[in-house]
Amino acid sequence: MRPLTEREIRASFINCSKGEAKRAGVPRDLPDQPWGDLDFLGWRDPGAPERAYLVAERDGALVGVALRVTSGAARGFTARSMCSFCLTTHTNGGVALMSARRTGEAGRQGNSVGQYLCADLACSLYLRGGKEAAGSGVIDESLTLEDKLARTRTNLYAFLDKVAARPE
Ligand SMILES: [Zn+2]
Repeated sequence: MRPLTEREIRASFINCSKGEAKRAGVPRDLPDQPWGDLDFLGWRDPGAPERAYLVAERDGALVGVALRVTSGAARGFTARSMCSFCLTTHTNGGVALMSARRTGEAGRQGNSVGQYLCADLACSLYLRGGKEAAGSGVIDESLTLEDKLARTRTNLYAFLDKVAARPE
């Protein structure tokens, strides 16, 4: 994706208040992010570990989502969990349940969408081999990187659709 500025990131959030967007801990090393290898920018709030954020580019527009980290999904030392975006499997809490408040009326009523995701939101790097998951890693399958990236994008967009779904 193209490099983003702090201002763009703060303006992109669709599911939090202006105040929350202003207070969000944005990565300090934005210029050093591996933008060319990122399908989306995801990070844990350096000042509040239970908060995480992701910003994706969709149809030329930025979509930012504030997430709350509900749990590390480590159910046991050898338990494996899979990220629902990139399908990388991790052990030892490398996957966390993250929930996003839905937009609009649904969000005001307390509805959220939860997904198990790479705890550091570095899906893009796991897929490209820039980062290795502890213990397990990307499942061995015959898909090309291109196909895996497309699948990750599909999963990500489906999540964004759930977060921003209009009330029925
Ligand atoms: Zn992932």
